[in-house]
Amino acid sequence: MTITGKSLIGSSYSTSNGTVFQAFDPTLGTEIGPNFHSADQCDVEHACDLAQAAFDIYREINPEVRAGFLEMIGQYILDIGDELIVRAMAESGLPRVRLEGERSRTIAQLRLFAAVLREGSWNDARIDPAIPERLPLPRVDLRLRNIAIGPVAVFGASNFPLAFSVAGGDTAAALAAGCPVVVKAHPAHPGTSELVGRAIQQAVVASKLPEGVFSLLTGIGNALGSMLVQNAQIQAVGFTGSRQGGLALMKVAAARMQPIPVYAEMSSINPIYLLPAALAARADTIARNFVDSVTMGAGQFCTNPGLVLGLAGADFERFAQLAGKEFTQRSAATMLTAGIHAAYQHGVATLAAQADVKQLGQGVAADGYQATPTLFATSAHAFLNNPNLSAEVFGPVSLMIACENEAELLQVTEHLEGQLTATLQMDDGDKALVRRLLPLLERKVGRILANSFPTGVEVSHAMVHGGPFPATSDSRSTSVGSAAIYRFLRPVSYQNLAQDLLPAAVQDANPLHIWQRRDGRLWR
Ligand code: NAP
Repeated sequence: MTITGKSLIGSSYSTSNGTVFQAFDPTLGTEIGPNFHSADQCDVEHACDLAQAAFDIYREINPEVRAGFLEMIGQYILDIGDELIVRAMAESGLPRVRLEGERSRTIAQLRLFAAVLREGSWNDARIDPAIPERLPLPRVDLRLRNIAIGPVAVFGASNFPLAFSVAGGDTAAALAAGCPVVVKAHPAHPGTSELVGRAIQQAVVASKLPEGVFSLLTGIGNALGSMLVQNAQIQAVGFTGSRQGGLALMKVAAARMQPIPVYAEMSSINPIYLLPAALAARADTIARNFVDSVTMGAGQFCTNPGLVLGLAGADFERFAQLAGKEFTQRSAATMLTAGIHAAYQHGVATLAAQADVKQLGQGVAADGYQATPTLFATSAHAFLNNPNLSAEVFGPVSLMIACENEAELLQVTEHLEGQLTATLQMDDGDKALVRRLLPLLERKVGRILANSFPTGVEVSHAMVHGGPFPATSDSRSTSVGSAAIYRFLRPVSYQNLAQDLLPAAVQDANPLHIWQRRDGRLWR
């Protein structure tokens, strides 16, 4: 497929002549053609108007049609073949094996939401039949179901060019909910984005859906994202990226005539707890696995373990030495963009310059946009008193803290900002301490893990990839897994409507054969 460098507005290509930019290969340090033309205000308005025009049709089509559409997107992405992988490798510096895995994950997410649509419980159908004879007043007939919230703006993530970009988790969840989607492609991988966008465009046509169900805006510079979030047709936003970018878009959304929700996944340092019995039993294995987790994908995961906590003592000291040595043997790896590389260099230099911080180990440095894995240590006292030590540094870096006692470990935990994950390396002998930690961690994080590592996020029904601010902007939601659909739905009640006026989900005949909650009890 020839990459045109143009935005996809419904079934057409944009004809705008906005700012011209090129993709960048961070491995070679060179620009890659063709020229991309940034979308302008006309493109944003056209895409959002088409999305609004498609909304009422798309949200009410049979869920089976929407499920088939999602599966077809997956098939068309596969049909692009190796061209997609090669382009994504060039634009991201990520290796083939990672991108092929990401493509599979993208397709698996689309299929998961197709299965969710067929299963039907996302409707949350509730029926409280009328009780005319109830005294002192009769009860009305009340029925509730979820409907799609409206057109959704999705910001593609830099660190998942496939699984969290144009056809990624946010898009799949919004399309499943019945929301047309306008994607703002991440400027780091515009060619990959166009190829995937065209696969979705093809699936829209093949499924005979209105063209406005999907548009893709390509561009660079904050103005485009702001215009999209400001557009009156947009009813919700899905975002993965920096805390700064997420906060800026939340402000734009809140300042609209009609404020809208922004589901932003932003910043997390994902503490690992090395509990005493586990450390005494297997410090070396934990150390190796921990370093694998920090350095995987050049550390460019939102779940990267950036903080390690334990109790001071010989075992913790031994772990620090083992992990430090392991870091020195790891190579530098290419980062996604020059900007992300610069932010990493700055973050590592800032950590190194703080009082009471020492370097335990650093990998082999390399030229270009490569991140050198680095492990630091500090004291609990320094961590509690220096905000620079709890800021996320996106990349293969981690900070170890030896706490003097359990009380100090709990104090450091209490001091943490909201996180996506917390990981407990524990054995049976650690359970008493874990019981003290758990209520605290439940308040702080979205996912609590035992004896594994947070990088690697399962796409399933019970996954929460979320957490209190600044991990996300709304701790009540997840951006990974089937529960992500609820971000783009809202409940509507129908009081005393005749059966033939009610939506199928809440009719007595239950033509969709879904679970309905009748007088509080599930049945079908
Ligand atoms: P980013 O700068 O937040 O950008 C993400 C998207 O939002 C891009 O499309 C960007 O496009 C847009 N954007 C950013 N700021 C905006 C603003 N003020 N107004 C409107 N649109 C805005 O994130 P990034 O490019 O992926 O990486 C930068 C840093 O984010 C990294 O160094 C890292 O620290 C962090 N990061 C964190 C995670 C995580 O999961 N925690 C993931 C990726 C990155 P434009 O720049 O074209 O406006």
